[in-house]
Amino acid sequence: MGALDFDIHGGMSSLTGKRSILAINTIIAIKGMPPQKAQKHYNRVPLTNRTLFRRDQNVCGYCGEHFKSKSLTRDHIHPVSKGGPNIWTNVVTACAPCNKRKSDLLLDHIDMSLVYVPYVPNRAEWLILQNRKILADQMTFLLKSVPEESRLLS
Ligand SMILES: [Zn+2]
Repeated sequence: MGALDFDIHGGMSSLTGKRSILAINTIIAIKGMPPQKAQKHYNRVPLTNRTLFRRDQNVCGYCGEHFKSKSLTRDHIHPVSKGGPNIWTNVVTACAPCNKRKSDLLLDHIDMSLVYVPYVPNRAEWLILQNRKILADQMTFLLKSVPEESRLLS
């Protein structure tokens, strides 16, 4: 029995004279997908500067330096002014000087490149990025669902 389990005691067996025990994990995952209607909302991971900076661990996507959140900006890799969407895979954390230097130019046209690849956090990562109070056993559970390429694991 692991540290995450707790026991539910049942009645005595008239055959064996022993008490029945059910060992239950403190977290129960439900198999299967949520109903179609709920799925769209469930899988949607909101893009905010807070969660973006956390995804990128406060590291500028262009110079690779680490900054405090207040010095960081959201950079659209393919600029919004040139039709770039405001989605997880088109945004990186950028320090103010790098964002200014990149301006609204395309990476192909300037001498700048990304030091990491933007990705869409999954639901488990998002819960972690939200920085809610997560119990240690819940964190262990969530990390099992975080993809291997996630920076949360580095
Ligand atoms: Zn930078």
